[in-house]
Amino acid sequence: MTDEQPAAAKLEKICLDNECQDHWNELPAELARFTSKFVYCPFCSEELNLQCSACKESLTSKDYKFCPWCGLQFQE
Ligand SMILES: [Zn+2]
Ligand SMILES: [Zn+2]
Repeated sequence: MTDEQPAAAKLEKICLDNECQDHWNELPAELARFTSKFVYCPFCSEELNLQCSACKESLTSKDYKFCPWCGLQFQE
């Protein structure tokens, strides 16, 4: 019996602005854990896009339990 972890993905919030991407990449890990709760970009105040961390497809609801594009389960 293998102790295999099921593959899982995360809901990610991203700003589509390239300059913001640099800021986001520099966020400390403690803070990066909370970015999925963000609604607006803290660097440009644009509304964030929701995406799957595994397949990077955009999502329309944060209430999804599974990615509709790649089928992976979302974890908190
Ligand atoms: Zn931004
Ligand atoms: Zn996905």
